[in-house]
Amino acid sequence: MIPKVGVQEGKEPLFYNESHHAWREEVRKFVSKEIVPYVDEWEEAGEFPRDLYKKAAEVGLMGMGYDEKYGGTKEGIDIFHGIVTSEEFAQGCGGVSASLMSHNISIPLIQALGTEEQKEKFIPPVIKGEKIAALAMTEPSGGSDVAGLKTRAVRKDDHFIVNGSKMFITSGMRADTYVVGVRTGSEGASGISILVIEKDTPGFTQTPLKKMGWLSSDTAALYFDDCKVPIENLIGGENSGWIGVMSNFSQERLGMAAGMNAYSQICIDEAVSWARERKTFGNPLINNQVIKHKLVEMNRCVRASKAWTELLSWRVMNGESPIADLAMLKVQASKTMELCAREAMQILGGAGYLRGNSGPARVERIYREVRVNAIGGGSEEIMYDLASRQLGYKA
Ligand SMILES: Cc1cc2nc3c(=O)[nH]c(=O)nc-3n(C[C@H](O)[C@H](O)[C@H](O)COP(=O)(O)OP(=O)(O)OC[C@H]3O[C@@H](n4cnc5c(N)ncnc54)[C@H](O)[C@@H]3O)c2cc1C
Repeated sequence: MIPKVGVQEGKEPLFYNESHHAWREEVRKFVSKEIVPYVDEWEEAGEFPRDLYKKAAEVGLMGMGYDEKYGGTKEGIDIFHGIVTSEEFAQGCGGVSASLMSHNISIPLIQALGTEEQKEKFIPPVIKGEKIAALAMTEPSGGSDVAGLKTRAVRKDDHFIVNGSKMFITSGMRADTYVVGVRTGSEGASGISILVIEKDTPGFTQTPLKKMGWLSSDTAALYFDDCKVPIENLIGGENSGWIGVMSNFSQERLGMAAGMNAYSQICIDEAVSWARERKTFGNPLINNQVIKHKLVEMNRCVRASKAWTELLSWRVMNGESPIADLAMLKVQASKTMELCAREAMQILGGAGYLRGNSGPARVERIYREVRVNAIGGGSEEIMYDLASRQLGYKA
């Protein structure tokens, strides 16, 4: 039985209603049937089967929040459905959810800035799970300074000729539809455009990258060598791509925070259950004050992080744009995840260090996945910088 957070008899539900609870059940069923039994094997293999996209589409996971006319479900869906999805995916997915859901960082740009024709062409196949979508912004020269991207697209008749490269791209090998940030104008944010580059475009190649975590997630470097991209694939106006880049950050940061909170909670749960069973010096580990304090400290941080995530989700849902708070929340959640993963690993001792089925696998995996959460989607340093600018901290 899943506890119904925020619901008290006779009172209006706080943040979560019946629809969110039903959706949680649905995602939990999907994750425990289609992912959990195989995730260790897929993580070792470094990939998961492509038909998982279709299975996810069948239960409505791919189309959450997208317009009905492109095959999505928007009516009755709010940010808390996304929060629930991130929390449930965290239960057992390893790198699977990063690739499986890579369309959620790419397709929103097409939905926000694309023409009717572009939306009809690019969105439905992704929502049906037939095609995979990726976002390609980061470059080998750096990802934090997105406005400094260098990949160049030069207009020639009815095409752009694209030259440059991208780095660390999730779904980079397997995607069919790449939403790519390119420079069409001068330096800085005002010279950026968004192009959709399709997999089979001549001159487009990819190389897979090996990572410390998200092992089953596909990550690649992309190369564009005189790629001829039709002007019909320009999303939004020429040199107007920056607004699209910025448009999805709030939802992405809330979703990441929700996932990180759930990972932190798993670390607490696994550490508690281990500390209850494990005996050292003739006593259960959990009876030591130092262990109890570690567990309470982990709880203190997770509870604060969860409460803040829910409050900010509610504010964004109600039309606010609390940019500084969202930036600080992302740091709060990644530092909480780091603390919880560290302390849980310490409590588990050697058992925590074992991979896969040999040990309490989730903590070991989460420990390896802390860094990508602290770096991707806006690194901790960049989040501090953004918050300090928003708060007006200068002389
Ligand atoms: C597994 C994985 C998947 C990813 N998936 C995608 C994807 O699908 N699409 C995509 O476009 N990108 C993706 N990324 C890239 C990610 O967004 C970047 O890694 C991130 O933006 C940071 O860029 P960078 O790694 O180039 O670090 P850099 O920008 O080179 O920064 C290096 C370090 O310096 C710090 N730093 C930078 N500037 C400052 C400053 N002014 N002051 C203080 N510190 C600073 C940063 O915080 C970071 O710690 C992915 C990354 C990983 C690891």
